[in-house]
Amino acid sequence: MPHIVVLGAGITGLSAALRIQAEGHAVTIVARDFPSGSETIDGSQINYTSPWGGAHNRLVPPTNPAEEREHAMSLRTFDHMRAVHARYPEAGITFMKGVEYLEAPSEAYRGLSEERARALGMQGFRVLGKGELPQGVEWGCEYDTWCVNPMVYCSFLLRKFAIQGGKVLRKEVRDPKEIFSWTFDAGPVDVLVNASGNGFGDENMFITRGQTCLVANSCPVTVTRQNADGSWTFCVPRNFDGGTIIGGTKEPNNWDPNPSLEVRETLLRKFAATYPQILGREGKFTVIRDIVGRRPTRKGGMRLEKETAEGGKQIIHAYGLGGRGYELSWGVAEGVARLLVEHLGASSQQQIPQVRDAKL
Ligand SMILES: Cc1cc2nc3c(=O)[nH]c(=O)nc-3n(C[C@H](O)[C@H](O)[C@H](O)COP(=O)(O)OP(=O)(O)OC[C@H]3O[C@@H](n4cnc5c(N)ncnc54)[C@H](O)[C@@H]3O)c2cc1C
Repeated sequence: MPHIVVLGAGITGLSAALRIQAEGHAVTIVARDFPSGSETIDGSQINYTSPWGGAHNRLVPPTNPAEEREHAMSLRTFDHMRAVHARYPEAGITFMKGVEYLEAPSEAYRGLSEERARALGMQGFRVLGKGELPQGVEWGCEYDTWCVNPMVYCSFLLRKFAIQGGKVLRKEVRDPKEIFSWTFDAGPVDVLVNASGNGFGDENMFITRGQTCLVANSCPVTVTRQNADGSWTFCVPRNFDGGTIIGGTKEPNNWDPNPSLEVRETLLRKFAATYPQILGREGKFTVIRDIVGRRPTRKGGMRLEKETAEGGKQIIHAYGLGGRGYELSWGVAEGVARLLVEHLGASSQQQIPQVRDAKL
């Protein structure tokens, strides 16, 4: 049985590990950081992005082939999230309406009719009437979507992986290739999956800083407002006692680990103006904490491809998910499984796998 090592225990590595495990392979996850209660995760883990994500799924109308590929992955993920949620209500997933407000909508949004939305696989879609839009918003819609409480969901994935026989090893590596020389109970490493978030020394990688604020207030929908000045106002209900994320900023190449109180005030004020119901009966936010995270972004988009390293060793790269790691997670996992089958399959004659067949 081939032994596959996945480097990384963020949303990308965990989803890929489970997906590969479903193919019947022995899988070990090696990582510096693993999921744990988000209450205990602090700034020392700022480079582990998955705890800091919202995380909600937004369906974005694609306008070019790269976006179409991502859109297809987000639909695969949507279907899989629906199936996981139905079977495991405790997994940390909530289905709800996603509301989009745009101050200056592009043609792609303006042309989003119910027919077009259906063709794009968006369910429960409706263009909002003028009377339903907050002040300053030109166009809006709602559709069915999902949110996760990131560390509840990632911990669930890790538990599933372990109970199904997966092994984990907490270790920091300097270079993924060093793993090929390690000794594992499951045998030598046949293929390594690089799900390290940032890759290693990839010059196309950069970070996109995001500051958000976690509040105790609850919200029944996930709301995203694209402002005319390019800034964003949004909320992501985490549920499962996770509060609601109010966001947020997107700042390429900003390495500042410290949250700004001024930014917090602006985020909260703008969100309350967009969706006053969030303030509840008490008419205020209850702040739990400020959050700063680093989205692992890549010029030209994510890297999802095979590489033959020195000595004929196979690496499958799956990193650079930027701000969409959760949204695309099962689509990426399926892509990893497909690349693995391509590599091993020439001899084993396996079929290209479908995500719906995953054992979860
Ligand atoms: C503020 C904010 C809001 C976001 N909101 C959303 C959202 O609503 N929806 C969405 O889909 N996405 C969202 N994202 C993006 C999402 O969080 C990321 O795309 C995702 O978490 C990336 O996951 P990953 O598994 O690829 O990387 P990571 O979560 O960073 O995991 C990397 C893994 O690799 C390991 N690793 C790295 N280097 C080494 C090494 N040298 N040795 C050993 N192990 C190593 C780490 O320990 C970790 O286990 C948001 C991000 C931020 C910051």
